[in-house]
Amino acid sequence: MAPAPTKTHCPYCSLQCGITLDTSGGRVELAPQRDFPTNRGGLCAKGWTAADLLGHPDRLTGPLIRDDRGSPLRRASWNEALERVVAAFQRAQRDHGPNAVGCFGGGGLTNEKAYQLGKFARVALRTSAIDYNGRFCMSSAAAATNRSFGIDRGLPFPLADIAQADVILLVGSNPAETMPPAMQFFDEGRDGGAKHIVVDPRRTATAARADLHLQPVPGTDLALANGMLNVIAREGLIDEEYVAARTTGFEAVRRGVRLYWPDRAERITGVPENDIVVAARMLAKADRAMILTARGAEQHSSGTDTAQAFINLALALGLPGRPFSGFATITGQGNGQGGREHGQKCDQLPGYRRLDDPVARAHVARVWGINPADLPAPGQSAYEMLSGMGSSGGVRALWVLASNVAVSAPNALHVAERLKALDFLVVSDIFLSETAALADVVLPTSQWAEESGTMTNLEGRVIMRRAAIAPPGDVRSDLDVMSDLAKRLGAQGFSADPKEVFEELSRASQGGKADYRGISYERIEAGDGVFWPCPSAMYPDTPRLFVEDFPTPDRRAHFHVTEQQGAAELPDDDYPYYLTTGRVLRQYQSGTQTRRVAALADGDGGPVAQLHPTLARRVGVGDGEKVRLTTRRGEVVMTARMDRGIRPDTVFAPFHWGGAACINRLTNPELDPHSRMPSFKVCAVAVSPAGADAEPVTSREGD
Ligand code: SF4
Repeated sequence: MAPAPTKTHCPYCSLQCGITLDTSGGRVELAPQRDFPTNRGGLCAKGWTAADLLGHPDRLTGPLIRDDRGSPLRRASWNEALERVVAAFQRAQRDHGPNAVGCFGGGGLTNEKAYQLGKFARVALRTSAIDYNGRFCMSSAAAATNRSFGIDRGLPFPLADIAQADVILLVGSNPAETMPPAMQFFDEGRDGGAKHIVVDPRRTATAARADLHLQPVPGTDLALANGMLNVIAREGLIDEEYVAARTTGFEAVRRGVRLYWPDRAERITGVPENDIVVAARMLAKADRAMILTARGAEQHSSGTDTAQAFINLALALGLPGRPFSGFATITGQGNGQGGREHGQKCDQLPGYRRLDDPVARAHVARVWGINPADLPAPGQSAYEMLSGMGSSGGVRALWVLASNVAVSAPNALHVAERLKALDFLVVSDIFLSETAALADVVLPTSQWAEESGTMTNLEGRVIMRRAAIAPPGDVRSDLDVMSDLAKRLGAQGFSADPKEVFEELSRASQGGKADYRGISYERIEAGDGVFWPCPSAMYPDTPRLFVEDFPTPDRRAHFHVTEQQGAAELPDDDYPYYLTTGRVLRQYQSGTQTRRVAALADGDGGPVAQLHPTLARRVGVGDGEKVRLTTRRGEVVMTARMDRGIRPDTVFAPFHWGGAACINRLTNPELDPHSRMPSFKVCAVAVSPAGADAEPVTSREGD
């Protein structure tokens, strides 16, 4: 009898759609799981074509090394490659101290790998230099929800609750393109009479379905939230009972938003005063209302305060903890949630513990069998670490896993220079990404359908990724490589078995905010996953948070006063427009995977900049012609596409391409002071015709 198809999950975004992989016919047949709660049989084009990654001819199948900086990469044995890594790490630490070796992880790593990488850095390398690409993704929302609610779980309720809300305010999110199967819950709500308000400078596919579309100037969402709260306060629509019983700090916020009269909010945001009033009333008068934010609101130099302003709005309306209501943030990367819980952040220990907390240090050191005093101090955030690489006091040897920082980091030309300035770079990946192409050693790693482990989706649901096939060639799993490298560095206690690592992770997380102690592989396998926090195997998990109270010391949620700061870089005579960036339907993150899937690349038209026809006319660029985008950090040439749905003062460009079309060559690395999130979503740009002789930028690899 043929084996049953393997139940697992799509390798891409945080929806983690349930799929099955049938290998009985000698090839991998992918199908959606009809009954998995986040996709209920739906998949987007990325999910449907994910199996194309498995046998791809570009796949790395063995370690590669360079004999010296000028020579090409050549095939090597694992022993030669790992000995090269160990020698380089030891040399850097001998010459420059323990923090001269850094690790850079990713939000696509399984929980086990993210956990083990944090332990590897602190125990095997004794370095404080570790951070990950989730710093570029969710950190502002995480900082705001941690300080306000005492916990950072993207959705504090199951995704299906969205269908039950009467009014939804969706800020800076475009799920119709980034996670299409999730739209079934929005559509179901609207079919039942729900009203949706979308805040986005572009009329995206999501905004086009909404009842009200607000198009603020990029970087002004905070003023919009404060303007709405001003209306709600003046019209007596505050849930005073909830505010008194379950929160602190509201009176200062009430005073603060008095200055955000709707006409002033209109002057700041460009959103008509009447729309601000209408949106505020719609939200306040709903029985069940939700406010959902995503990267559009968060990737700013004041991203934490912007997320906070929408939390203030939700708390003033008494939404968090009420049925089918609340505030939530939509996570992006596949394991963006779990990847930020278990220790690959520069200031964090497993279970969402703080590295500077003596009690947390003692607990985790006990699990790891080391002296708490041997744990390093918190290190630098992602961009700070990348920006200082190769310099005195900076990282000299770096290990990058599951991240393509040469494309995904802001100010990417500078980051590429710093990568080249390293004494040694080792990259673990499945393909030769733009970052791997700069490496001294490249380690091929197993991918989603070739490995087992857990992921935590956008709902905080811990789910199981299951292996369906063996990896090709000489490929090894990241856990196996970490275990081997740790041994070679003289450290013990690094299992290569995901189940063993998860059991250790659950012990390390015990008592932390993200408590996984009650979660086991068996418990996940028994259903559709387990929602954290889950402190004991004896008790149910927690699909809905804040029903009774908040996990803060006083059990209340906290308001914080927020003031519109404006973008870190505003248009001027030299750079007269706003540039904003984001994702498109058929590509994912830095494109290392999706650019290689022919069915996706053929359908997306390549790197395209979106301009309003008025702006295009003003700068002399026609539809389909090449346009040059220039900021203080670099320039990029893309194909121009006219779109009447975007603000006439704003250009949108996707961030999925490298080389000449890498939009992150242009983005501003200015950091949010709380989250250390760069300002991906807004900077000042000049727009001009590129001319017919400009380099074409339509190749799949972006170069
Ligand atoms: Fe995969 Fe996300 Fe598409 Fe679902 S929505 S198929 S998880 S990329």
